Amino acid sequence: MTTDNLAHETASLLAGFGIGPEILSAGDFAVTSPIDGSRIAALRPHTPGDLDAMIAAAERAFPLWRAVPPPRRGELVRLFAEELRRHKPALGRLVSIEAGKILEEGQGEVQEMIDICDFAVGLSRQLYGKVIASERPGHRMLESWHPLGPAGIITAFNFPVAVWSWNAALALVCGDPLIWKPSDKTPLCALACNAILGRAIARLGDMPDELRNGLSQVAIGGAELGEALCDDRRVPLVSATGSTRMGAIVGPRVAQRFGRTLLELGGNNGMIVAPSADLDLALRAILFAAVGTAGQRCTTLRRLIVSQDIADTLIDQLKRAYRQVRIGNPLEPGTLVGPLIGETAFAGMQRALGEAKRDGGHVFGGERVLAERWAAAYYVRPALVEMPRQTDIVRRETFAPILYVMRYRDFDDAIAMHNSVPQGLASSIFTTDLREAEFFTSAAGSDCGIVNVNIGPSGAEIGGAFGGEKETGGGREAGSDSWKAYMRRMTTTINYSRDLPLAQGIKFDIETAP
Ligand code: NAD
Repeated sequence: MTTDNLAHETASLLAGFGIGPEILSAGDFAVTSPIDGSRIAALRPHTPGDLDAMIAAAERAFPLWRAVPPPRRGELVRLFAEELRRHKPALGRLVSIEAGKILEEGQGEVQEMIDICDFAVGLSRQLYGKVIASERPGHRMLESWHPLGPAGIITAFNFPVAVWSWNAALALVCGDPLIWKPSDKTPLCALACNAILGRAIARLGDMPDELRNGLSQVAIGGAELGEALCDDRRVPLVSATGSTRMGAIVGPRVAQRFGRTLLELGGNNGMIVAPSADLDLALRAILFAAVGTAGQRCTTLRRLIVSQDIADTLIDQLKRAYRQVRIGNPLEPGTLVGPLIGETAFAGMQRALGEAKRDGGHVFGGERVLAERWAAAYYVRPALVEMPRQTDIVRRETFAPILYVMRYRDFDDAIAMHNSVPQGLASSIFTTDLREAEFFTSAAGSDCGIVNVNIGPSGAEIGGAFGGEKETGGGREAGSDSWKAYMRRMTTTINYSRDLPLAQGIKFDIETAP
C-alpha cells in the first residue's frame, strides 16, 4: 500500500458522499491515516469567526425546527438511516482509513448509527411527559418536555461517527440543531456524516433555507474551537466525549455560564473472574474487550481481577491467544488489531509499561511491530502485565492495549479493588455463582455505569443508557431516557376551579369589599 493509494481512496469515498476534491487540499490542517502515517487531506480549519457564524445560523434554525412536529422530525432521522444503510460500506471503510479500526469494527460503528436512528424514530412519537397528582382540588399538574436549543457536540477520535450519531439522532427528534466539533484526528468522517445527513435533509424537502443551513454543521479545528463552543451562551448544551483531562476543562467552562453538559469521559474498566467462571466464555470476552480496537475503546478492558484459584490457567490461555492475534493493516480481512492512532499514543503506552515494570509488573508483549513496513505508523503487540497489586499506573487510563492482571483471594477484596479507581465507566464479572453475580449488580457491588455479567465490558447496545460515574463524567447517551438531556423540562399547574387554594395549605387572603 502506498500513500497515494490511501489519499486517492479517501477522495473517492468522499466523492461518493457528494464531497468534492477541492476541500481536501484547501488548507494546512493535516489529516493523516494511522494505517501508514500518510497524509490523506489538508483541510481549511474553521476560525472562531466561522464558529460564531455557525452558532448564529443554528440559533436562527432553532425556532423553525422547534415548530416542526416531533414525528416529522423523526421522519428526517428515518431518511438519514436509509442513507446510512446505503452508504454503510463506504462510511465504514472511511472510519477504518481515518481512525485505523479493522473493517469489521468500522462497519459496526455505522450499524450503531443506524440502530440509534431507528431508536430515535420511535422516540419521536414517545417524548412523553407526565400527569402528576395535584394536592389542590380543581387543579391539574403536568410535566412536559420542550426543545432546548442548539446542541454543541464534541467527539473523540476513537468513535468518529457513532458517538456523534447518538447525540445527533436524539437531538434532532428533540428539536435541537447540531454543531459538531469532531476530533482533529478524524474530521473527514465528520464531513462525510454531515454530507449524508444533508442528503436526508434534501429528501425531506419543504424546508426554508434558514432551517436547512443551520440544522447541522461541522466545525473543523482543535481544542481552541471546542473551548469557544463551550463559552458561547447561545449553546445551551455541550455534549463532550473524550479524556477526563478534556472534561475537567469543559465542565467548569460550561457551568460558569450556567450551560448544561453531558460528559462521556475516560474509563478504566475492570473484570472479575471468579473460580466458578466459564473460562471459555471469559477468555473470548477478555480477548475482544482488551485487544479489540487496539485497546482504544473507552470501554476497553484494562484491569483483570482473577481468583488466585484459576489465575495460572487463565493467564496461560490468554498468553497463547495473545500470540495468535493477527496485527496489521486494518483494511485486510483477517486482521484483528490495527494501528494505534499515532506516535503520542505509542509513547504513552511505552511509558506506562515502563512504570508498571518499576512497580514490579511482568510484561508480556507490548512491543512495536511492523515498523520496517510503516515507519510512520504505530502498530503494537497488545500487552498483558501481571501486577503484584493495583498500583498508580493501573489506576490511570492509558489509551492503548495494556491489560493489567491482579489476583484476588477473597471476593470482597476483589470488589474493593475493582472500585478503587477514579473512573467508573464499564465493568463485568464472570461467575456462575448467583450470589456473586447479584452482589456485583447490587448497590454495594460495581460502582460503574455499565455493569455486565458473563459478557465483557465493551460493545454496548444502543437501547441502554450509555455512560459512567465518577471521573467518567456522569453523562448518559443513547437509549433509555437519555433523550431528556436534549430537552428542557416544564412543570405546569392548571387551575380549572373557581378558587385559588395555595400549595401547602398556606392562607394568604385579604378582605375584599362586598
Ligand atoms: P481528547 O480528550 O484528546 O479529545 C476529545 C475531543 O475533545 C476532541 O474533539 C478534542 O479536540 C476536544 N478537546 C480537547 N481539549 C479540549 C478543550 N480544552 N475544550 C474543548 N474541547 C477539547 O480525547 P481523544 O484522545 O480524542 O479520545 C480518547 C479519550 O476519549 C479516552 O479517554 C476515552 O476513554 C474517551 N472516550 C470516552 C467515551 C465515553 O463514552 N465515555 C467514548 C469515546 C472515548
